[in-house]
Amino acid sequence: MRRTWPDDWESRKRGAGCRLCADFTGHSFHSGRVSEALLERHAIAIGHVAVVFRPRHVATFTELAPDELANFWADIQDVGRTIEHVFKPCHVNYLLLGNIVPHLHVHVVPRYLDDSAPERPLPWNTSPVPEEMFTAQFQQLRNA
Ligand SMILES: [Zn+2]
Repeated sequence: MRRTWPDDWESRKRGAGCRLCADFTGHSFHSGRVSEALLERHAIAIGHVAVVFRPRHVATFTELAPDELANFWADIQDVGRTIEHVFKPCHVNYLLLGNIVPHLHVHVVPRYLDDSAPERPLPWNTSPVPEEMFTAQFQQLRNA
């Protein structure tokens, strides 16, 4: 087998150098029961948010105790409802990936009637959200 994943993958999964452990606070618009909701600066859609598990480093949801799991998904549901209210998407995708940053987080991605991939996942082509637009979206979410 020719390994394709990075050599440090296993240590990153255990938390080495985890950038989400280092800083949850930068652009959190909502603190949930066990998470912070971060508006993505490199977004695949308007209103793309990451809900990040806060209490400690875990790589994936299979590591959570039952009460942590229930609280985490309740937080994600709250954020999904906020996004539905603020951005009026036609659908919302919930993506649990962790392929780049293996610290438990779920991407909450609003889908719009005019987006580029109806009935399929959006391509992961992130682009930086212009600062003015980012600030406006952040305020909308914070006020919701
Ligand atoms: Zn972490």
